[in-house]
Amino acid sequence: MNNSIDRQVLVLNRLWQPINLCSARRAIGLLFLGHAQAVGTFGEKQFSTHDFESWLRLEERPEDWPVVNTVSSCFCLPSIIVLAAFDRLPRKEVKFSRENIFQRDDYLCQYCRKKFDTRKLNLDHVIPRDKGGATSWENVVTSCIRCNTKKGNKLPKEAGMFPLKKPVVPRWRPLVGFRKELESHYHQSWRLFLDPNSSTVELSS
Ligand SMILES: [Zn+2]
Repeated sequence: MNNSIDRQVLVLNRLWQPINLCSARRAIGLLFLGHAQAVGTFGEKQFSTHDFESWLRLEERPEDWPVVNTVSSCFCLPSIIVLAAFDRLPRKEVKFSRENIFQRDDYLCQYCRKKFDTRKLNLDHVIPRDKGGATSWENVVTSCIRCNTKKGNKLPKEAGMFPLKKPVVPRWRPLVGFRKELESHYHQSWRLFLDPNSSTVELSS
């Protein structure tokens, strides 16, 4: 309970697309400054938007909903906020990581072009490290274990194996780059915004 102020809040842009996570502390700050509105996520208030004042007055909430107790009141923590303007929060750079390389390459082995489960994927240095290849977005690609072994530490030319796509630094887009965080902080109320297959979200005015 004591760290509920640091729990993660889903941040939506003006088009209601998830773009980031921030701490509840930050979310309340944005709410207070009028840079964001809290999204109602329970009861009849579902998908209604609230400014700071209206959010404070929100009475109906589930028993176990996280709150912070202030001197004068019990403040219900938002789980989703929607930004009033674009780019109020700095966009995150996509972190150079194993998982994000797989995502960039759409889980396709860049050599045999087949799709694999994460467990069956590896990273391949297009130009091998011992030949001066960097560990960077531009030189590391998704490879299945078999192709990875086959290519070994040969240059693409030597192995006759060339990546399907020229590896580049991925451009930031919603959900890429923070999927792992989303999973580890997942909150039930985020479902409709994260799962494109769930039913259409109706927005109240
Ligand atoms: Zn392969």
